[in-house]
Formats: sequence, structure tokens, C-alpha cells
Amino acid sequence: MTRLRFGTGGIPRPITTGILDAIPWLEQNNLHCMELEFVHSTWLKEEAAEELKKQAKKADVTLTAHGSYYINLNAAEEKKREASRNRVIGAAHRTWQAGGESVTFHPAFYLKQDPEKVYAQVKEQMKLILQELHNEGVDITISPETTGKPTQMGTYEELCKLASELEGMSICVDFAHLHARTNGAYNTYEEYSKVLETVENYLGKERLRNMHIHLSGIEYGPKGEKNHLTCVESDMNWDALFKAFKDYSVGGCVISESPIIEEDALWMKKKYEGI
Ligand SMILES: [Zn+2]
Repeated sequence: MTRLRFGTGGIPRPITTGILDAIPWLEQNNLHCMELEFVHSTWLKEEAAEELKKQAKKADVTLTAHGSYYINLNAAEEKKREASRNRVIGAAHRTWQAGGESVTFHPAFYLKQDPEKVYAQVKEQMKLILQELHNEGVDITISPETTGKPTQMGTYEELCKLASELEGMSICVDFAHLHARTNGAYNTYEEYSKVLETVENYLGKERLRNMHIHLSGIEYGPKGEKNHLTCVESDMNWDALFKAFKDYSVGGCVISESPIIEEDALWMKKKYEGI
């Protein structure tokens, strides 16, 4: 049976003693994935990564990571694009050392340019990233995230197409972002199904069985994402979303990015299991 794991975007809040105490907590609480938040830096040391890999394997916890916020693969200057590439590569390398499966990040800003031109640039940059990781022997999936603002590159159609064109690349679907960037759309069973069908059409059934997903409540407006909310505070149609996950046999990792990460990871899991 396809397995959908639920877990936290970051170290569960009750754990204040460091990353190596996170896995036992997740195991005890029946959560089965965790995202390493490398959003300000790749803070995990190499030795800790190796220890984490052992722990996670033993506890059956899948690890993913969120790369730097300071990435724009469409930056005008090559120097900035290079720095962006290196941030993705660094996060991917360390996550791979920790036994992680997928690294996500917000790929680029359109900067008021033609989306097709931006797509071509991001594709070039992604090729360089994937080539370097291949050279370093790093075997991990690079999964840019569907973004929450219309100024940010990253519709699910763009990223699915890109992933279908590049070996080693997938997509991280943040359903709250889809909802926010469209100022309230993507909140029905039909719309959720359309997203999952697009993933299947571009990337195949296998990808649906092993997805990287972000979920949270979200506040939004005409400019898209404002801030994340808890599940119950938001207008996300959780029943429809989880029904679509079940009907399409979605597997992989659901990362809770709610302000109460672990409580809402458990809330989502319970809700999903109750469908
Ligand atoms: Zn996200």
C-alpha cells in the first residue's frame, strides 16, 4: 500500500536540545518525516548528519530539507546566480549526507520578465546544479517548490514541465501556496485532482507515490501569500484535499509548515486517516 508520511518542517518545538533529540521524539509521536530548515544557513555539521542518518533509518523517519531563502536562479548577475546555485548544492550535499531524499527551495523571481524567458534561465541554472551534484556523487532529488506569490517563479505547471525535462529533478507541491498565489483558488476536490493529474501526466505514477508536499493554513490577498496559519484557523478545504490524496494514492512526505508544526502534523495525520 502506498504510504503517506506526516512530519514537521523543522525540529518539533518541544525539542530544545538539538537535532539529535528530534528523531526519538518523532518516533514516539508516530510522525515519520522531518524537514531540515536550512533557510538561513546549512547549519548541520557533517558528523551530526552521519549520526542523524543512522537514527532516521532506525526510526523509519524520512528526511527532506528546505534550502536557503536567498536564492534567485533568475538573478541578473552571474555572480548572484552562482551564489544561488552554490546554496542549493551545499544544502543538497549535506542533506544527502544525512540520508535525506529531497531538497526544496523557492527557485526564482520573474523580475517582471516574460515567464518563458525566466523558465529558460532557471532550466539552465538547474542543469548546472544537477551536473555539479552528479560530479560530487550526490544522489538526491532536487524539488523546487510551488511558490506563494505571483511575483515568484513556480506555478505547478512550470515546475512539473521543468522536472519532466531534467533527470534528478522533481517538484515540491505546497498546496497552501497554490491557494494563496491564486488569491483563493485551488481549494476544491476538482482543483486538487487537477494538480495531482498534472504531476502524473508529466512525471508518472511513480512520482505520485513518492511526493514532497508542504501543507499549512495560509492567509493571502491579491499579492498572494501573507503568512502561514494553523490548520483550523485557515480556509483550506482539508477534507477535499485528503480525499484527493487517497483517491490518487498519493505517497511520500507531507511536511507541516503551520506555526504549530508538530501539533498540526498530528492534526493532519489524524484528519487524513479519518477520511
Ligand atoms: Zn512550503
